[in-house]
Amino acid sequence: MHEPSPHRQLDAHTQLAGVLGYPVRHSLSPAMHNAALRALGLNWVYLAFEVPPETLPQAIAGMRGLRIQGLNLTIPHKEAVIPLLDHLTDAAQQMGAVNTLFWEGERLVGDNTDAEGFLRALHEAGIEPAGQTVLILGAGGAARAVAYALHKQECRLWIANRTPERAAVLAQAFQATPIAMTPDALRPLIPQLDGIVNCTSLGMTPNTDSSPPMDWEALPDTAWACDLVYRPLHTRFLQDAQKRGIRTIDGLGMLIHQGALALERWTGQPAPMAVMRQAAMQALVSEGKNQ
Ligand code: NAP
Repeated sequence: MHEPSPHRQLDAHTQLAGVLGYPVRHSLSPAMHNAALRALGLNWVYLAFEVPPETLPQAIAGMRGLRIQGLNLTIPHKEAVIPLLDHLTDAAQQMGAVNTLFWEGERLVGDNTDAEGFLRALHEAGIEPAGQTVLILGAGGAARAVAYALHKQECRLWIANRTPERAAVLAQAFQATPIAMTPDALRPLIPQLDGIVNCTSLGMTPNTDSSPPMDWEALPDTAWACDLVYRPLHTRFLQDAQKRGIRTIDGLGMLIHQGALALERWTGQPAPMAVMRQAAMQALVSEGKNQ
């Protein structure tokens, strides 16, 4: 059961933003953004739109026609939206994926705030990754954003993925080294690592017992481990890292920061980070209770 949203005054001035996805009903973005918009005192509302791939062109035409102020895009639209836009930021162009749409005058611009959101989450945890040696586990959309971000930070990158061909393609795009995702292949690398990022969906609900292969004992004491999975927040990957005394960063930081960056593009105002974090946490807790 879903709680009804708190009453809000909507009128002829209310501006609209939202997220397009398929599926989209699991998204934490409406809770996070509506809390932020309320805290900023803005007469805006943020909705989730379930848009199947075949009607994405109509949805974007609708955004233009209705002059919707801003949209986020999630799976499966991040790449398919590109030919429907007027311009891409450098980040979106280099990642080949868009998660935020905003207006620049009459131009509809595609941006990608995932990479910057990831870096901000690391910085918030006191980690400065510039020049570090980092292993990225996974080669999907999230791994691409992380590889882009860490490549810009001049990290020495290694990429391991279940499907090695995808690791090879991603590695080539960001001057990284592909490596097999097996304990044997990873063994000599692990003692050299400063950080490790799980960008696979291993450990995500309902498969909470799964985790990428990792010899935690061989990881240096000073290393850090980040998991992009945030359902659950304390994944097995992070629990194992913590047992070994390794610094950990959960997936909520990136989620909040990528949302905050999008909100700032749309409103021109600094995002209320604490409000967004609390709203996202509350939404996660209440979905746990409703399962
Ligand atoms: P994706 O594009 O579908 O990629 C999934 C990745 O997981 C691929 O590398 C895939 O390997 C790997 N994988 C899936 N099942 C596996 C298994 N059983 N064994 C080994 N590897 C497996 O998804 P994505 O968008 O990159 O998202 C990945 C995770 O990051 C999800 O849990 C998502 O919720 C999370 N995420 C978090 C944030 C955040 O803000 N915190 C942002 C984006 C994504 P193959 O290539 O071999 O299929």
